[in-house]
Amino acid sequence: MTEVPGGAGSVALRDELERLDVAELLTGDPASLPPSLLPGVVRTVLAPQLFDAGRAAERLATATGTVSLLGLGLDEMPVGVRAAGAVLGYCERSRVALEPGLLRLVPRQGGELMRLDPPTRRNLELLEPLGRGPSLAQLLDRTRTPMGARLLRRRLQEPLTEPAPIGARLSAVAALVTDRARREELRKRIGAVRDLERLVGRAGQGLATPRDLGVIRDACAALPALAALMEGLPGDLAGLAERAVAPPEVGARLTALLVKDPPPSAREGGFIRDGADPELDGLHASAAEAREFISGLEGRERERTGIRSLKVGYNRVFGYYLEIPHAHRDAVPADYVRKQTLVGAERYITPHLKEQETVVLSARELALAREMELLAEATRLVTAHAPGLLACSAAVATADVTQSLAAVADEEGWTRPDVDRSTVTDIEAGRHPLVESSLGRGAFVANDTSLDVAHRIVVLTGPNMAGKSTYLRQVALITLLAQVGSFVPAERARLGVCDRIFTRVGAQDDLSAGLSTFMVEMAETAAILRQATARSLLVLDEIGRGTSTYDGLSIAQALVEHIHDSPQLNCRTLFATHYHELTALAEHLPRVVNARVEVVEEGETVTFLHRIRPGGADRSYGIQVAKLAGLPASLLARAREILGELELHRPIEADRPAPAQLDLGLGAPPAHPVLDELAGLDLDDLTPREALSKLAELQERMGR
Ligand code: ATP
Repeated sequence: MTEVPGGAGSVALRDELERLDVAELLTGDPASLPPSLLPGVVRTVLAPQLFDAGRAAERLATATGTVSLLGLGLDEMPVGVRAAGAVLGYCERSRVALEPGLLRLVPRQGGELMRLDPPTRRNLELLEPLGRGPSLAQLLDRTRTPMGARLLRRRLQEPLTEPAPIGARLSAVAALVTDRARREELRKRIGAVRDLERLVGRAGQGLATPRDLGVIRDACAALPALAALMEGLPGDLAGLAERAVAPPEVGARLTALLVKDPPPSAREGGFIRDGADPELDGLHASAAEAREFISGLEGRERERTGIRSLKVGYNRVFGYYLEIPHAHRDAVPADYVRKQTLVGAERYITPHLKEQETVVLSARELALAREMELLAEATRLVTAHAPGLLACSAAVATADVTQSLAAVADEEGWTRPDVDRSTVTDIEAGRHPLVESSLGRGAFVANDTSLDVAHRIVVLTGPNMAGKSTYLRQVALITLLAQVGSFVPAERARLGVCDRIFTRVGAQDDLSAGLSTFMVEMAETAAILRQATARSLLVLDEIGRGTSTYDGLSIAQALVEHIHDSPQLNCRTLFATHYHELTALAEHLPRVVNARVEVVEEGETVTFLHRIRPGGADRSYGIQVAKLAGLPASLLARAREILGELELHRPIEADRPAPAQLDLGLGAPPAHPVLDELAGLDLDDLTPREALSKLAELQERMGR
């Protein structure tokens, strides 16, 4: 349970609702929910009195089985309590049965967890991949239980922001990275606990099937060995062994009661083992006895009456009967009661036969009813011990996530990051986990990152396709993984905790929202500037590219200046751009450093090395990249010509006044093929006539 500041229109609330992936919104006042908030989600308007504080406190106390909300740590959350009370009231109204005392409420203070906004979650591919590769959740998920998988996804979406609990998680992962034998054993055994958490929940709602109870029984049986394996583990796993002890009554009772493989549905019965319940055994025994009586009846009656053609039969109208052909009518005993006359025979019953028949038919019904009673009783037992069982499932889910992270760390060669309260990001040989997994081990070029108090903003230049986006996201992902409590894909990493990570990629389509790409880009940038603090990490990829060159370049530059100069920002920032003009900023803004992606140029071809180097790129290499993409040679030649002309006129500098202290000039005049050729002419070698015609040719090429 959580409270989000800022009211219904706040960004924080929208982020939280997106994160929770809510299915339905409940409100007492429809006017308070803007239509723009989760447009596709069902909205239910409840009577405002359902949100009444006093009634909410009562409902919560009953549902959680506590006397006072103080014990739940909810006294500081008045709004949350009213909302939770309304949810319970809504459940009552919709007849969703909740076993009293079973509800668990965990108050969550916003400050302990990092909020990730939707674009950041998308860009970092937390749950959904952007391309064909895996998402981060898929890459990390080596869990063995659905509870573990759920917890992992939850943790990925809620990185921690305090070094101490992060350290506790990391210590636990480290222990299982080192102790491979214990990890393997845990992995082998943990799957047997299956989805204990959900099954206990189903029992609480009275929905448990015989098979569900069988799974709970098997989970209880698997727990002691698991608890022994968790014994003595440090950090986040410390003390879990004691919590992973199932209430002994539950396992014992379910073992005594259920057959080895209980059926998925209770309808047909047959899930209670023989000897478990004297009443059920009695019913089974008398039914068997009666069945035996009926099956022996034909032989016995033939002997008694001497009628060899006497038959015992069954139909739905009369039940069991004795059938005797008309020829033997005289030999029918006096205790036979005639029931039906057929063409060649007469059908009879006897009082004793009817008694036995009732025994057989009702025994089946009674036995089924008794089995259902025992099922309900076992379900109540599970529910009564739900807190203990849920503590076990939570312990197992934690161990499952930890072993999963340890397995990834070990198999992928990740290292333990050093997380502290500094504002340093110092990564040695970092890798992008998802790109690396697509390219294959060894094919990925590792890169360093160094951001500290003196170097806050990196302006990264380089051609398209060189690896700028990959590098930017890699830094964000390493930071996120560390704060989730995972090892990271780097040789070494020291990371000061971030309160938020923002990643934005310029000019992405968001057609669903009906906004122009540039509008989306700017709106997202504005949102970051409002929310980021000095402890945030900003990863801005080609912001400003969604508009014309002049506008884009101006916005990009002003943005870097704003982040650099504003005291409440000045945060760690990676800014990728293909406007190589922006590298001039580093000369004037002390905390800006330049980096470039190295390319090797041979003639007119470029090779990407994916290596990040200090210093800025001096050119965009756009035309070379276009060549790689297979544009026709004639088109490329024309593009080169146009570029030459543009560079000659240097329109960017001429048209846009640069800020007083900043000269975005490119230093020496740019090379132009005509100037190059002019400089290269050997005048001694030319006749005056040849010189004149050369001049005319060059003039013509310059468009005069
Ligand atoms: P654009 O500006 O067009 O988005 P970019 O410079 O951001 O380009 P990326 O998308 O990051 O380039 O990278 C392009 C491709 O280069 C990636 O898909 C990946 O295959 C490869 N690549 C990037 N970085 C590395 C690396 N460090 N090691 C190996 N390959 C890499």
